[in-house]
Amino acid sequence: MTNVLEVQHATKRFGTFTALNDVSIQVPKGSVFGLLGPNGAGKTTLIRIINQITYPDQGKVFLDGQPLEPQHIKDIGYLPEERGLYKSMKVGEQALYLAQLKGLSKTEARERLKYWFDKFEISHWWNKKIQELSKGMAQKVQFIVTVLHRPKLLIFDEPFSGFDPINATVIKDEILQLREEGATIIFSTHRMESVEELCDHIALINKSKKILDGKLTDVKRAYKSNTFEVGLMTDNAAGILEQIKSKFKVSPADFRTIDEQLKLNITLGKEDSPNDLLGYLSGQAQILRFNEVIPGVNEIFIKTITEENA
Ligand code: ADP
Ligand code: MG
Repeated sequence: MTNVLEVQHATKRFGTFTALNDVSIQVPKGSVFGLLGPNGAGKTTLIRIINQITYPDQGKVFLDGQPLEPQHIKDIGYLPEERGLYKSMKVGEQALYLAQLKGLSKTEARERLKYWFDKFEISHWWNKKIQELSKGMAQKVQFIVTVLHRPKLLIFDEPFSGFDPINATVIKDEILQLREEGATIIFSTHRMESVEELCDHIALINKSKKILDGKLTDVKRAYKSNTFEVGLMTDNAAGILEQIKSKFKVSPADFRTIDEQLKLNITLGKEDSPNDLLGYLSGQAQILRFNEVIPGVNEIFIKTITEENA
């Protein structure tokens, strides 16, 4: 798989403070890449370097294998964390203006804007001034302007902040759609809610350093513990629990049940296979649930950051 973007050993200092410390990332073509980390980790600093708004003290950035140059700015659609539209300008006028700055003809810009304004059901905003819009509304306009010229790389800095859950879902679906159409997407977030469904790849940044990265499935595989959620239907819950405990490592389960009398998490040793456990359980009770516990991004985020900060 080729990388659309590669950052090699980027370091950025502000005076004596190091905001980004030797961070490298590789963003595969066609991926949705989540740049995750708590507030102040250095995510925006990295994004600003990629967008040539600021320059690294050390390190290099490559777009499609080429060292980053001013001409690459047009290849990247960038939604900054500090949203900046001209407040007293009208929505449509401003969108047309910004689209033409990105190289679209007026006719083309008009056509594409019509498509997006219809899609987001905001055509009636066309003649409103930006200052008349709520923060979330203005952000929708800015999202449109970011993607309108169909750049190969899209970078959204905290795209969901300022959106209610419904609009956050709209944006999330659009991001997935843009990937379907061939774009590569990087987005940053300090909140893990949408990460699960969106990202193929993640990098976790904490206190200016990258502490974890990879394909989301590989990261999850590395963090899973061979634990299974088990729900059983039985008249002899206490007796069966004792027996299971004598054979396996058991911990309390936190899933909700409707019918199960006995619910527990069972962690297998290296020598046990899920089939052994299933075979054993089926001789004991009705099995209503048998699921491997896969750690969520939020859990991995909290675990790695807590360990790192300890
Ligand atoms: P994040 O986006 O992960 O929340 P930032 O990249 O915005 O983090 O900031 C990382 C750190 O660098 C923060 O401590 C921030 O205060 C500092 N920082 C960012 N930009 C500047 C700047 N222009 N001057 C001084 N410090 C800065
Ligand atoms: Mg930021």
